[in-house]
Amino acid sequence: MKQEEAKLKIQEFVKQLNQWNLEYYENDNPSVDDAEYDLLLRDLRELESQFPELVTKDSPTQKVSGFVASKFEKYEHREPMLSLGNAFNKEDLQDFDQQIFKANGNRNYKFFAELKIDGLSISLIYKNQKLFKAVTRGDGLVGEDVTANVKMIKEIPHEIKSEEEYVEVRGEIYLSKAEFNKINQKKAQANEPLFANPRNAAAGTLRQLDSRVVKERNLQAFLYFYMNRDSKDILTHQDSLKLIKDLQLPVNGEGKICDSIDEVWDYIEKYSAVRDQLPYEIDGIVIKVNEFETYEKIGYTSKTPKWAIAFKFPAEIKTTKLLSIFPTIGRTGRVTYNAQLEPVQIAGTTVRAATLHNADFIMNRDIRIQANVKIKKAGDIIPEVISAIKDTEFEKLLVWEPSTNCPDCNSLLEKISGEVDQYCINTNCPKKIIRSLQHFASRDAMNIEGLSIKILEKLYSEQIIKDVADIFKIADKKEVILNLENFGEKSFLNLITAIEKSKSNSSERLLFGLGIRHVGKKTAKVLIKNYKTIANLMTIGFEELSQIYDIGNVVAKSLIDWFNIMENKNLINKLVTLGINMDYKNDSSNSSDIFRDKIIVITGTLSKSRNYFRELLENNGARVTDSVSGKTDFLLAGEDAGSKLVKAKNLAVKIISEDDLKSMMEEK
Ligand code: NAD
Repeated sequence: MKQEEAKLKIQEFVKQLNQWNLEYYENDNPSVDDAEYDLLLRDLRELESQFPELVTKDSPTQKVSGFVASKFEKYEHREPMLSLGNAFNKEDLQDFDQQIFKANGNRNYKFFAELKIDGLSISLIYKNQKLFKAVTRGDGLVGEDVTANVKMIKEIPHEIKSEEEYVEVRGEIYLSKAEFNKINQKKAQANEPLFANPRNAAAGTLRQLDSRVVKERNLQAFLYFYMNRDSKDILTHQDSLKLIKDLQLPVNGEGKICDSIDEVWDYIEKYSAVRDQLPYEIDGIVIKVNEFETYEKIGYTSKTPKWAIAFKFPAEIKTTKLLSIFPTIGRTGRVTYNAQLEPVQIAGTTVRAATLHNADFIMNRDIRIQANVKIKKAGDIIPEVISAIKDTEFEKLLVWEPSTNCPDCNSLLEKISGEVDQYCINTNCPKKIIRSLQHFASRDAMNIEGLSIKILEKLYSEQIIKDVADIFKIADKKEVILNLENFGEKSFLNLITAIEKSKSNSSERLLFGLGIRHVGKKTAKVLIKNYKTIANLMTIGFEELSQIYDIGNVVAKSLIDWFNIMENKNLINKLVTLGINMDYKNDSSNSSDIFRDKIIVITGTLSKSRNYFRELLENNGARVTDSVSGKTDFLLAGEDAGSKLVKAKNLAVKIISEDDLKSMMEEK
């Protein structure tokens, strides 16, 4: 390949991999599976080794991939949190051994093979025996402070018995397969997008702001790096695991000392065979040199230690025939394409259908009906079509074309600019309405137990329920409903009771249930906490709304657009007349009105996370915004406050410390 051509290819690969990194690390929502990512990374590495002069600083081969979300406090790691080099076959492992032998100068070392837990790395720092910080890997140098969330993980002690003043232990946070399935089932019931795999579910859970969600979701941990290696009388990785265990921190017990790569290979084969039976997901085997004294000699790259490597399991991929492609419509009108397949066994289950995502996905891969296709279970959960096999039969098949009309209401499908998906934009599309009704009744929204999709479909087709307001009028439709299949007197009574009860929900449930774009459960709560009633919220302008902590322009615009539509205003009025509560009901015992209507900004390092203080202030009536302006009533400033403090001083905004806040609250 010529240099010019290689340069373009390298640029293209770097751009693609960095985009996938963003989706994976920042959004916890990958669009391709790890095997596809790893393959392209390998291609890039190979090209870069042929043309070393073309290696750029932003290449994912040169740095630890990862992000630090601005919603978290940053924390600089004492020692970088590195990634691991990858091996895909026995040869790669033999090369790894060769390099260690070369660097070490002799064969006086052993390997420690252990499971590669598919979660996200965490660093736990204990100071004077107390859990001081829990930090994600971030970009390897600086991570996100997720201490408040990690404190919700039962397995992680808040105190350890250690004589050392500073103890840092690193490991993996993960979700068991059972817990992962539970979360996704709940999401499916609420008609929310599912997590692709336990790794993303664990990362998505840990990297969000509501610690109560973390508590609910039963995250777990395995620790595997003891960082104070010099200060203790421990000489090997195996010893360090014992020490971590003695500190009462969870350690995975499956690791094993191996004398040679052959023994490592036996270990890999053993766990490849039983990985389906483990209660948690593993994506490979990590092999570390056991003796610490070798580590400095063997050394590091900017991205990985050279004394350890990760063997990655190949993705389980099967071939089958694609029988048909059919679109389905979600509550927002978004079209998802699905494949009906000739049944095939993957990872212990029979797969008959798989997702094809959107029209671009199918066309870019030139997937055709009746083609033989490769299927994979991403994270062993949601089956996905990866590609079509371009055999001799393939050319005879018709090129697939996307649907032009909604499969339910037949109106023209449209693309929203900047998005890959097609949408049915007919507000009267029956499928959309039924899905919206289902969302409205779902557990995280109005929580109306017993109002299943089947009942909604029936009541919609009978024209008893046409919009969410009609749900509150079904008490006098008893006769019709009792005539429905499987609907007894008792079920009807239970349903009516659940509907009545939902009327008095705190209004963030209603706001979320209305299904406004970009207004998820958490956003709805922030909005209602800040503005107290839906009526207030309807009067707020874009400028003010977008200033609210965690809201931003996209949500603000979407909300304002929604409230500007006359039909939506009428719907809110109807709901008011039907007696549905429109106000915030504070469920926190730690609440008051002392900061009612006060606009407060938080800055600097405080004794607890900013989130903690935001919740505290909001629970006591304040509106917490992102930036200081003439309207700001107080600036709550911690240590090392920067530009916000300067601006507050210039604008003569009252500056309060954490102690001031405490005394203000005690006084009131
Ligand atoms: P990695 O997953 O290949 O390995 C390093 C990580 O393994 C460590 O940071 C640690 O968190 C983890 N680990 C689990 N068990 C361990 C153990 N017993 N000992 C030591 N470490 C252990 O590297 P990475 O940098 O975290 O992630 C890169 C990989 O992530 C890629 O190779 C790819 O598979 C995946 N990825 C996928 C996408 C995508 O879009 N699908 C995007 C980016 C990255």
